[in-house]
Amino acid sequence: MLTDSKRVYAFGKDAHGGNNTEGNRGMKMILGGKGANLAEMANMGLPVPPGFTISCQACMEYYNSTPPALPPGLAEDIDAYVADLESKMGKTLGDPSDPLLVSVRSGSPFSMPGMMDTVLNLGLNDVSVQGLIAQTGNERFAWDSYRRFIQMFSKVVLDAKGDLFENALTSKRHTRGVASDTDLDAADLRDLVAEFKEIVAVNVSAEEFPELADGDGRVAFPQDVAIQLRLAIEAVFRSWMNDRACEYRKMERIPDDLGTAVNVQSMVFGNKGDTSATGVAFTRNPADGTNEFYGDFLTNAQGEDVVAGIRNTSPLHDLPKVLPEAGAELWTVLQTLEAHYHDMCDIEFTIEQGKLWMLQTRVGKRTARAALKIAIDMVEEGLITREEAVLRIDPAQLDQLLHPQFDAKSHYEVVAKGLNASPGAAVGEVVFTSADAVEARAAGRNVILVRWETTPDDLRGMIAAQGILTSHGGKTSHAAVVARGMGKPCVCGAERLKIDAEKKQAIISGTDIVLGEGDMISIDGTTGIVVMGAVQLVEPEVSGDFDTILSWSDEYRTMGVRANADTPDDAVLGRRFGAEGIGLCRTEHMFLGDRKRIVQDMIISEDEAGRTAPLAQLLKVQVEDYLGIFAAMDGLPVTVRLLDPPLHEFLDSPRELAVEIARMECSGVSPSEIAPKRRLLALVDSMSEMNPMLGLRGCRLGIMFPEIYGMQVRAIALATCQLRAQGRDPRPEIMIPLVSVVAELETLRAESEVILAEVEAQEGCALDIPIGTMIELPRAAITADEIAKVADFFSFGTNDLTQTTFGFSRDDIESKFLPRYLERKILLRNPFETVDSGVAMLVKMGCDLGRKTNPKIKLGVCGEHGGDPESVKIFHAAGLTYVSCSPYRVPLARLAAAQAALSEKATASDNR
Ligand code: PEP
Ligand code: MG
Repeated sequence: MLTDSKRVYAFGKDAHGGNNTEGNRGMKMILGGKGANLAEMANMGLPVPPGFTISCQACMEYYNSTPPALPPGLAEDIDAYVADLESKMGKTLGDPSDPLLVSVRSGSPFSMPGMMDTVLNLGLNDVSVQGLIAQTGNERFAWDSYRRFIQMFSKVVLDAKGDLFENALTSKRHTRGVASDTDLDAADLRDLVAEFKEIVAVNVSAEEFPELADGDGRVAFPQDVAIQLRLAIEAVFRSWMNDRACEYRKMERIPDDLGTAVNVQSMVFGNKGDTSATGVAFTRNPADGTNEFYGDFLTNAQGEDVVAGIRNTSPLHDLPKVLPEAGAELWTVLQTLEAHYHDMCDIEFTIEQGKLWMLQTRVGKRTARAALKIAIDMVEEGLITREEAVLRIDPAQLDQLLHPQFDAKSHYEVVAKGLNASPGAAVGEVVFTSADAVEARAAGRNVILVRWETTPDDLRGMIAAQGILTSHGGKTSHAAVVARGMGKPCVCGAERLKIDAEKKQAIISGTDIVLGEGDMISIDGTTGIVVMGAVQLVEPEVSGDFDTILSWSDEYRTMGVRANADTPDDAVLGRRFGAEGIGLCRTEHMFLGDRKRIVQDMIISEDEAGRTAPLAQLLKVQVEDYLGIFAAMDGLPVTVRLLDPPLHEFLDSPRELAVEIARMECSGVSPSEIAPKRRLLALVDSMSEMNPMLGLRGCRLGIMFPEIYGMQVRAIALATCQLRAQGRDPRPEIMIPLVSVVAELETLRAESEVILAEVEAQEGCALDIPIGTMIELPRAAITADEIAKVADFFSFGTNDLTQTTFGFSRDDIESKFLPRYLERKILLRNPFETVDSGVAMLVKMGCDLGRKTNPKIKLGVCGEHGGDPESVKIFHAAGLTYVSCSPYRVPLARLAAAQAALSEKATASDNR
């Protein structure tokens, strides 16, 4: 427990204009991102309203008590920092003649946009509102601030339903016959304050907030500013654990034990008339990376109005026309920030009666396309090095660029247009609520979530949807920011869409089109268009900036990257994405379809003679298979894995056979005709195993049915000779799966070598085909020194290795107990996605032992983990020669491998 440590840190200027800041940008883990960057801006001399930050550790201390409570001493620290802030500002909280007002905001070490809570205008009460009137001479502004405060505080802190206040506001507009809140006058707002207080009295439980109970046992909205502040701070701490924050952290893999800081900051107002404004700005365009200032602002508004998309915003580049002085200062601040952070920054600002204030900055979120362009431009501008550029791109985010687009050849009619908020195209059925999106997804249907605007409560729906379409809000609206972060296509602000969420329909104005729930639509978040029906999508290309970063990556990485591919088409795709060969060609699919019957004939035949004909047929088709793949990968290695799954997978299902026999019997088919079916059923039954994954599969098949592996080896050799004869350069490697004992490999290697020698002699073609094995069982990893003596290469099959190390069924765990394990934090990751540390130790042990007895051995990995950026870094550290993954993940693996090499270099030079 951090009982004695410092928990509160001041930022901003003191009363004499000197810097009185205790933090800096390096203290994100203590002050949260917002607090650390506020401190940094204050240190840089930028205009930051003074305040203080309560640490993330204090938040975790709050949770460590039962029930959660502020740790001893924190309340006193807060009092001292409030007194200090009051003296800096020359105002006090709750002062009847000139009150200090503060905002209370969350801010965790990693950005969690909109997931936690904020309270603005804190410090207002029935008395201090008069002081605000006196100071501003603006009665309407003061009452509006007070009603906003009650509304926000009651929702966030007292857990009152937000709709209650919205409804009261709407009915006030109706009775006054006005369209917008801004048309309500001071008296209306004062009435609303009274109504809001009554809503609190009726709806908030006095049992939950005993300190707020009045004489009648009803809750009175707190007038004591110290109580307001303490309750607001606790509410922000509590918001760390609200459902949407927990869900977001799960998605972004942010640990739960970091906590959120609380920033208490003196308020500045963007809603004090036409010389006031509020907005968000980016130092470059976060959608496409263009080097231009970018953002939105609203005059005479509070910050939340911009993000909520309630009013339509103006583009940032118009700001200097509207407010020239503050606009010019903002331009300078944006340049200063980018030069200081060496990265694209996003900021929130407020202009209060012509004076610019900075409320937040951080390294801005951007689309993958923008990330690439910004990194490359910054190298050209001399702001960062190439290595930094490569390290800065998030490999997982590049996935966005590997999303489908509309096929340029398809014809479609655009029915609405909005903003191109997050790139990529998506097709799905229209749903109007997040709950419907979740339900449809669970039923396996693809959906587009159509909303007026999303709120943090829509997070689950956004995760479930293929894409998001909104009728309102700009490129910095919630939907846009969150969709970009998720890499989901999003079109926002499609204003022709008139949505009636209750009726679950949307009219496209100017047309007679009515979109109903379940209608198929397509959206393109790269261009911002909406299309009726399902448009054909096409796969993306790696070109332009993407290609530049990948070619830089190739210079730095030391690990090779291959593709897992079983067909010539996949081989071509892998090559296009930069694969340097095939690390795993699974051959089982080559035995399905029409060929299943041949395999069955072979299995059914009772003697070797009976197997000869089907084997000859299989040999012929297998030679064709390998010709296709080796030709597509000409000049590059292709690791062909001999048949791996249990043989009975190629037989008909016993249940279907039994049904067929019963039908034949019922329809009077003669017993002699039924007899072969019965024999087949008996055979299938005799081959069934209790644990097929631990049964007759992999190399065990090769030992039991030498003809099958023999046929495959012969086909590989024949295809190689044929291509050589054509002047091509095939480079096959033969891989034996599921070895646990070195003798298995010795036996099968010897048998394969006999066949290779036969083909060499017969075709007059010298073959030098490496023979290696998969390491996918713990015993193989532990005895890798013995196995390496007879292997030219190892390929770690981390799927089976994970399965057998944990004893988890890879086919069942995700639908059975894994979700609960993750929820209860028994496991922090799905070990089939990101390699587990125990499995990684086996890989490392396998590498080290293998190299000990065979220093020339090549070491790869071909389990799914080979395409997971985090696992790639672990494999680099284990000393692997290459990773192999699905073709689409090859670009990510190239980048992740480069980052692993660069980080290692940086650590080595740090240690010198
Ligand atoms: C593995 O087990 O990691 C592997 C690549 O083989 P498969 O997934 O085909 O079992
Ligand atoms: Mg396997």
